[in-house]
Amino acid sequence: MCGIIGYCGPKPAVDVILEGLKRLEYRGYDSAGLSVGQNGSIDVVKKKGKVAQLRRAVPKDMGGQWGIGHTRWATHGEVNDENAHPHCDTSGKIAVVHNGIIENYAVLQNKLKGEGIQFRSQTDSEVIAHLISSFYEGDLEQAVKKSVLLLQGTYGLLVMHADQPDVIVGARNGSPLVLGLGEGEVFFASDVTAILGYTKQVVYLEDGEVAVINPNGYHTTDLRDNVIDKQVE
Ligand code: GLU
Repeated sequence: MCGIIGYCGPKPAVDVILEGLKRLEYRGYDSAGLSVGQNGSIDVVKKKGKVAQLRRAVPKDMGGQWGIGHTRWATHGEVNDENAHPHCDTSGKIAVVHNGIIENYAVLQNKLKGEGIQFRSQTDSEVIAHLISSFYEGDLEQAVKKSVLLLQGTYGLLVMHADQPDVIVGARNGSPLVLGLGEGEVFFASDVTAILGYTKQVVYLEDGEVAVINPNGYHTTDLRDNVIDKQVE
């Protein structure tokens, strides 16, 4: 289990994500990757090795308003570029980073393969991106909720969709996830150390909770859409 970070705000997303990943690196670094969204599409860069290798692979002019990043401690599938996160659906519009282990991934994968979906990695995590895609009807939060209800195992995950600019959906079960609230910017992280340089206002998510962030704020609900008022610490 490793590190995840998400950012929505006015700063260059790539810079914030690389900085956050660097701070999470002490938890392990089989590989690292990030995705950022801009003008209706998502760009992904992921590399075996340390965050420094990812930094070298990221194009100097890589823009992006919002994005997610991951450092991987491999549990399913070897350590290579393909198995690094983020993982995308077939359209390349949905990107997912995942901490944890999906125990029933093989069953879900077989069902999706039967529907014609081709998998690109050997991870347990990629199935989440395809599941969300199968449920997506214009509302990312609902598609994530329907998907995680089918997952058995542990997850802290962040999801973005090219058609939903400046929005990241996060969900957790058994893996940590925290929100960081700044001025006109909101962060997600698996570990508060990734974002403490930017804000001291944090909200800890509990298992079964889903949070949706944009640069102006956040809302939290459970998987049945009940609103949960969280305490800012
Ligand atoms: N099980 C996933 C993988 O092997 C996530 C591992 C992690 O938490 O870093 O890719």
